[in-house]
Amino acid sequence: ALNIRGLSMAYGELEVLKGIDLDIAPGSVTCVIGPSGSGKSTLLRCLNRLVEPKGGDILLDGDSILAMRPERLRRRVGMVFQHFNLFPDHTALENVMLSLTRIKKMPKRQARRIAEARLAEVGLAARSDHRPAGLSGGQQQRVAIARALAMDPEVILFDEVTSALDPELVKGVLDLMATLGRQGMTMVVVTHEMGFARRVADQVVFMDEGRIVEAGCPEQIFDNPRSERLQRFLAEVL
Ligand code: ATP
Ligand code: MG
Repeated sequence: ALNIRGLSMAYGELEVLKGIDLDIAPGSVTCVIGPSGSGKSTLLRCLNRLVEPKGGDILLDGDSILAMRPERLRRRVGMVFQHFNLFPDHTALENVMLSLTRIKKMPKRQARRIAEARLAEVGLAARSDHRPAGLSGGQQQRVAIARALAMDPEVILFDEVTSALDPELVKGVLDLMATLGRQGMTMVVVTHEMGFARRVADQVVFMDEGRIVEAGCPEQIFDNPRSERLQRFLAEVL
């Protein structure tokens, strides 16, 4: 489980997270929604320490992430970004292998076997020798997901992973994420795809101005929003 307690974070004077408390159960999908600038990306970035929180704590199965060695954290928490962040000079297969050989210090043969299996899982077995430039945006994003999966993390964080994709490529990536969720992967998904959140999430978290305003199951959040701010947000995006 992931347990977030009193998490705060500031960029200089700008307070971006103002006391976040959130529990993420093993095998659950949590979707984080909210207006631009509300702190969604910053929350994810704290969860794998791309930024250092100012206060509070984050426990991963009881271990404080803030006290964890970076290599250990990289193995246990995966992240997929909006802009894929693949190495352009490496093939899809090599991109997936690299974190295994570098971070897990895995022998190449074993890394190759795992990378091939993960690429097959995301439907890209036939494209594994292509470099990112030779793949569609949706395929590149699936390589990035395969790379995260290959590390066998306890939780994967997704930050707007379909926002940079052409509309016709979005569904393939969302379907893959839905499948991972059904298979029991623990996922925290920042998304503007309300249909996905409603269909796939176990828990939906609505953030505004650095706080969690409302959290609950999709039915509660989308059909019975309590706060005026969430009602207003849904009226704008739905
Ligand atoms: P979006 O939906 O647009 O991605 P978000 O909810 O992910 O928004 P964050 O990226 O977490 O929002 O940003 C929260 C606040 O922190 C915003 O006011 C933003 O301008 C500010 N911010 C984000 N990154 C930085 C940074 N590196 N330096 C300074 N301020 C930042
Ligand atoms: Mg963001």
